[in-house]
Parts: sequence; structure tokens; C-alpha cells
Amino acid sequence: MVKKISIVIPCFNESEVIDYTVKELMSFCRRVSQYSYELIFVNDGSSDDTEEKLNKYSHQYQAVRILSFSRNFGHQQAVTAGIDASTGDAIVLIDADLQDPPEVIEQMLEKWESGYDVVYGTRIQRAGESLFKRISARWFYRLLNRMSEVPIPLDTGDFRLMDRQVVDQLIAMPEKARFIRGMVSWIGFNQTSVLYERSPRLAGESKYPLVKMLRFALDGILSFSVKPLKLSIALGFLSSGVAFLMLMYSVYIRLFTNQWVSGWTSVVVSVLFMGGIQLISVGILGEYVARIYNESKGRPLYILKKSKASESTEHVVSAESAD
Ligand code: UDP
Ligand code: MG
Repeated sequence: MVKKISIVIPCFNESEVIDYTVKELMSFCRRVSQYSYELIFVNDGSSDDTEEKLNKYSHQYQAVRILSFSRNFGHQQAVTAGIDASTGDAIVLIDADLQDPPEVIEQMLEKWESGYDVVYGTRIQRAGESLFKRISARWFYRLLNRMSEVPIPLDTGDFRLMDRQVVDQLIAMPEKARFIRGMVSWIGFNQTSVLYERSPRLAGESKYPLVKMLRFALDGILSFSVKPLKLSIALGFLSSGVAFLMLMYSVYIRLFTNQWVSGWTSVVVSVLFMGGIQLISVGILGEYVARIYNESKGRPLYILKKSKASESTEHVVSAESAD
């Protein structure tokens, strides 16, 4: 039987690139023709005409399926929706801007055929991205890897192929804070990578401004590590240690010499220092409490709206929500 490949493409205001993307992906499907395909485009509440364009393509091509969100829920949610709806034997995640070249999928398919369950794309170079983005991404992946309890591959985004058995596990994971690349690492099975060069965006702007990027980075760390909590314990011990030494010193000076520690500077400095450490620790604790709160609300992760093009009725996929 012909194996089926699902390609999941999250789209948020990608009107400028979508025509090209559909064309490229369709020509990929025609070229690598030993499989059958479904292209699942997830419109993440775009405010431009991405949805209209996608609807048009879904009429034109049988392989194209559209899911549309009731509002912008975010990239990880969009990918999750596509995964939930996929029916293929292998699922490929790729961005709508084709910064990750479709040709790489062919190598991923080869590795999959040779027995791997997850084949992720690792970037050896990122062309056309700002120095800041390159450096911050580099540091982020290294920091994340240090903190995380499961090793998360360096310089690897969501561009990857996953076997059905991995995807079934992913769908069964109920957590609301989605950090898919980490979750897939956690799931395990046979994982490998293919190296590729990341090209610049075709057109349009990055949909990941700094604030979103920081939030995402923090999400990754907080969802995959409790080390920040341990850090606040370490800070607590450190500052108490310093305070204790200072105390010993002032007692010693007062008792055994005829001088004493004078002035209020030292008092203010140590009060501020302690206050700072306490606030940081409470803040870290707060982030984890907020996570418990979000998980406990049990809201769906995303809401699909009825699409004119597809037969899918309005329904809520009770999974999870990000914020
Ligand atoms: N995206 C999305 N929802 C969002 C932000 C981004 O679905 O809220 C999609 C976007 O359309 C693209 C992918 O996620 O297909 C990656 O976004 P982008 O290329 O802007 O990120 P970058 O490559 O700059 O990190
Ligand atoms: Mg991009």
C-alpha cells in the first residue's frame, strides 16, 4: 500500500508567500511520487487574505486541507492542530515561509524508511536573519539543553518528520504549555537529524517578534526544567552565607577591637540585596504556579472555526491552551 505523508504548515499572515509555498510543496509531492500526501494548512487567525487564498487552493487541489482558528493562538498551537488532524503514516512539520527547504524532506523520508521514527532538521547556518536573532537563538538552545532534564537537540526547530507512533504519543500528551520540540525529545524512540542550511524568508516579516520569542524561550525552559526553582534555593543559601559572614565580622570588630561598623550604607545594601533575591525567587515560584493554574483551567488549546472550504464543523478540540 502507498504510504501517506501529512505535511503540516502553520500560517499566520502569510499572504505574501502562500502562493509560492503551495506551488513548491505541490511540486515536491509530484516529484517524490511514491507516497500519497495531504497538506494541512493551519490558518492561525490571520488578518490578511491568507485564509481566502488557502480556501481557493483547497478547491483546486485534493491534497490540500485547511484548518482555521477562531483567532491567533500561536505557532505551537497551530502545529498541534495540524498534528491532531493528520492521518498520514509520517507527519512533517514545516513553516509557511519555506525557510526550511522542502528538498530536505526527501532526506528525512529516506531516514524514516531506514527505520528512524523522528528525523529533525538541524540548521548549520541561518542566512538572512539578524545577528541578534542568530546569537540569541544560539545561546537559547545551549541554555535550554543545559537546564532541561531531557536532552533537546541544538539548533533544531520544529522542522521535522515524525512517525505515526510518535505522533500518537504526542497527541495523547495533555499539557497546555506546548513546546513541541522538547515534547518530541521526551517521547524518545529512534531519533536522528539531517543537516541543512536555513534560507532567508521569501517575503513578509518574521511573525516572532522579540517579546514572543522571549516568551517562547521561557516556556521552553520552564516546561522542561525545574532548575530555576533550585537556582532560587542556591541564591538563598548564597546570600544567607554572605550575610552570616558579615554578621560575624561586625560582632568580632565590636567585641575584640575598639572600632565598630558604622553608617547605614551596609544596612541598606544588604536589605536591598536580600529583597532582590526574595523577589526573584518569588517570581520564579510564581511562574510555576501560573503554569499549574493554566493547566488546571482545562481550556482547549485552540478553537477551530467552520471553514467554507472544508466540511469540518465548528468544534472544540479539548486539549489545551497556552496562556
Ligand atoms: N506562525 C503562526 N502563528 C504565530 C506566529 C507564527 O502560525 O502566531 C507561523 C508562521 O506563519 C510561520 C511559522 O509559524 O509559518 C514560523 O514563523 P516565522 O517564520 O515568522 O518565525 P521565524 O522563522 O522568524 O522564527
Ligand atoms: Mg521563518
